[in-house]
Amino acid sequence: MPVALVGAGPGDPGLLTRRGAELLAAADVVLYDSLAEVSLLDLAPPDAERHFVGKRPGAPMPQEEINAILVSHGRAGRRVVRLKGGDPFVFGRGGEEAEALVAAGVPFEVVPGVTSAVAVPAYAGIPVTHRGLATSFTVVTGHSRHAVDADTNWEALAQLGGTIVVLMGVAHRAAIASRLVAGGLPGDTPVAAVRWGTRPDQRTVRTTLSGLAAVELEPPAAIVIGAVAGLDLSWYEARPLFGRRIVVTRAGGQASSVAAQLRDLGAAAVELPTIAITDPADGGAALRAAAARLASFAWVVFTSANAVDRTFALVRDARAFGAARVAVVGPATADALARHGVVADLVPERFVAEGLLDVWPAGTGRVLLPRAAVARDALPDGLRARGWDVEVVDAYRTVPAQPSEKERAAAAGADAVMFSSSSTVTNFMAMGIPVPPVVACIGPVTARAAEAAGLRVDLVADESTVESLVAALARRLER
Ligand code: SAH
Repeated sequence: MPVALVGAGPGDPGLLTRRGAELLAAADVVLYDSLAEVSLLDLAPPDAERHFVGKRPGAPMPQEEINAILVSHGRAGRRVVRLKGGDPFVFGRGGEEAEALVAAGVPFEVVPGVTSAVAVPAYAGIPVTHRGLATSFTVVTGHSRHAVDADTNWEALAQLGGTIVVLMGVAHRAAIASRLVAGGLPGDTPVAAVRWGTRPDQRTVRTTLSGLAAVELEPPAAIVIGAVAGLDLSWYEARPLFGRRIVVTRAGGQASSVAAQLRDLGAAAVELPTIAITDPADGGAALRAAAARLASFAWVVFTSANAVDRTFALVRDARAFGAARVAVVGPATADALARHGVVADLVPERFVAEGLLDVWPAGTGRVLLPRAAVARDALPDGLRARGWDVEVVDAYRTVPAQPSEKERAAAAGADAVMFSSSSTVTNFMAMGIPVPPVVACIGPVTARAAEAAGLRVDLVADESTVESLVAALARRLER
């Protein structure tokens, strides 16, 4: 299907439909506007074209122009996703885009989305219908003077007795309220206005119909009018870390599980790609040579999951190890090894180089240590002192990654920063982003690195794990 009009949902990226995600993953071109959550764009292939076609201050892109872009890409046979906030056919002008595609004879598909009209009240703990309180809900635009004055029969709505959800109604809320009161709704009818619903910056203002004109309110907001607006089944804004912004500094793909844990607690996680993993200076030649004769070593020692993955990428399978035994420094590295079908022969009780030396068996022989290009020498020095012949190989290099302007801006106003290794501290400091008020470290080594960089460390995880760090941060920041 060349063109798809896809509902992006109201903001929370988890509310995109599976069909929407599927189409995004296969898109050649993505057109989006200001209400579509930008992180959804990451679901499209890296080389897909992304075009912003939304309102820029003062210069909205005319609808005809958007229609023309859709038609021309569609005719060229490109897979186009037109991403629209909420549902494409609820005040999204999706109908006009479909008309243009029909007129041009371009085949298309419509993927309904979770509309803000229902989802935003839900995230504020307000059911739009409720036994005994509302048997219907009406979704109405409050956009133009014209709609408020002429197109909509507000008096009839007032008589209906159900819930009224007004979208785009912030600017004309005074006129809307007075029309509804004139139509017979009592001035003390409960009203809830929810701004940026389903997003970490959601804010709910509760008032009444006669109070609506006076409350401070900025778009975009969904205004819920009726008895249900008096219910407060708050759950989203009640989460322990709701509204808190936390910077997570981890290498590439590793951050997402931490970010997911933080989001489950209600926080907005700002993921900074502070480190990128690249080839070592020799392009990987030394590791390739060592990988070709793995079986000649008595031991192979891994101190990071990256080293495990890079080594396994160079061998056919675990048989390349022959009779060599395998040691790791901690459980995450052991897990990485297990993913390649190998059980570690040695895992220390303390997850540091010294811990491994404590439990290292007596004997002699050759030891291979593939690891990051810049690392501490405690392990190789300790093994050599015990009579082993150690070959240290640079398996990869960590280099500072540069955050985008957007990531920088998001990080600048954060409540806390989480450091998961000494190098994340160094790289974060090199970015020159203001340090958030709370600094959290995964363990004592990282905390010492942060202090050495001049930071005041506010908390250190009880156990050196991400789960423990997230829990400690939640205790500290809980409202
Ligand atoms: N097609 C969209 C609505 C587009 S009209 C949908 O189905 O949700 C744009 C209006 O929707 C905004 O002015 C606001 O009233 C409402 N809206 C959209 N997203 C919102 C959000 N996250 N929080 C509050 N209101 C939102």
